[in-house]
Amino acid sequence: MNKTKIVITYGPSIEDKKILNEVLKYTDIVRINFSHGSKESWLKYAKNVRDISNKLGKEISLLADLPGPKIRISQLKSPIHVEKGDRIVFSNKKDTGNGSIPVDYENLHKDAKPGITISLGDGYLKLKVTKIIGKKLICTAMNSGDIQSRKGINLHNAKISANVPTAEDIRLAQFAVENNFDFIAMSFVRSAKDIELLKEHVPKAFIIAKIERKEAVAEIKSISKSADAIMVARGDLAFDVEIEKIPTVQHLIINASRDACKPVIVATQMLASMVNNNMPTRAEVNDIAGAVVSGSDCLMLSDETAMGKYPLESVKILYNTIKNAESYVAQSRSNAVSALGSGGESISFAAVEMANNFKVECIFAPTQTGATARRLSILRPKSRIIAMAHTIELTRKLSIYYGVESLLIKKYSSIDSMSKLIHIEAKKRGMKNYVVVFGTPNRPGSTDTLRYIEI
Ligand code: PEP
Repeated sequence: MNKTKIVITYGPSIEDKKILNEVLKYTDIVRINFSHGSKESWLKYAKNVRDISNKLGKEISLLADLPGPKIRISQLKSPIHVEKGDRIVFSNKKDTGNGSIPVDYENLHKDAKPGITISLGDGYLKLKVTKIIGKKLICTAMNSGDIQSRKGINLHNAKISANVPTAEDIRLAQFAVENNFDFIAMSFVRSAKDIELLKEHVPKAFIIAKIERKEAVAEIKSISKSADAIMVARGDLAFDVEIEKIPTVQHLIINASRDACKPVIVATQMLASMVNNNMPTRAEVNDIAGAVVSGSDCLMLSDETAMGKYPLESVKILYNTIKNAESYVAQSRSNAVSALGSGGESISFAAVEMANNFKVECIFAPTQTGATARRLSILRPKSRIIAMAHTIELTRKLSIYYGVESLLIKKYSSIDSMSKLIHIEAKKRGMKNYVVVFGTPNRPGSTDTLRYIEI
């Protein structure tokens, strides 16, 4: 089993239950993108994942990805073909006419400026804004291509004035919580304040901050403190930060997340060529291995599994490339040591020291909030980490942490009964030795004890 977790994106390519079943064998978390589809379709996707997860006897978690103030082309009757040099007019969908192309964003004319470039989708079509007349953007196509319904629009070098979270984000986050999604990803976060605002509406939710704006990169320290996890959302990020800087910005974000003891997901175009081909490029597998080596907790597939021709081949390539990268780099202590301050953190640090020095097979961590599992994970022990939780919700949340396997256990009331339970689990797995990190039963935050056991 790999330590680096795999997130896949649900979409038409894996709707066939047989394919879904195979893909989920390699998957830890399924992302459902709330930018596309309807509540009915998301609930159907979620049910399919839960059903197969039960059949496979494996916890697979659900991630709801909120749209944020993404600018999109509205629904069109059919794609519009554009030739290089054509004059194209965009306007808000409430204000169309005279052949202008409708866009789902009120402030388009306020946020865009004459002279800037706008990109559609992943940048396949670029247009120069030549004039703004009233609420209309007059543009010239810089290359040829099709304008399609619901494609994202990115304004280069422009600030998006819409607030985050949007009112729709808040409603969708509440919907995700009501329907037992395990994680909520927040798009276009600008600062820690945006996260705090969403948390006021969904206080118990596990929030993943998607870093896809230059402003968010500048605020990464405080954002990593506020969010429960971070995503390097390289798709939109590459429109706001020069694409040549993406590798260094990715390192910066990973390091900031690890300094804050928070898990980090690297996302987008990991295997982009596999949307159409059954083989990745050499550069893509290198990107995956690089992300593992630099300390990512999870890697994510988007179009590869949502709308690609080879979803199963993609997830297998991702899994096997991770496996090879992990065996090559025996990662030990991380740069997160500076984040260790409290007693609970020091105990985790000591457990990892002991596990590495004595070649211990497993660190068992009964956990009531997931904090001990998170601290152990960030220190990247060579041993396994088995985190034991007594709610299904917590076992699913543990899926985001590097190297953490979760085990659902019954509530125990004494240290003695907990120790017996762990001993049985260790023997069942044929272990010769293990370490346990624990505190007072049913008292979160009380982790203060470390034990080394030989069988
Ligand atoms: C991204 O932009 O990289 C991303 C993960 O977000 P989305 O897929 O919603 O565009």
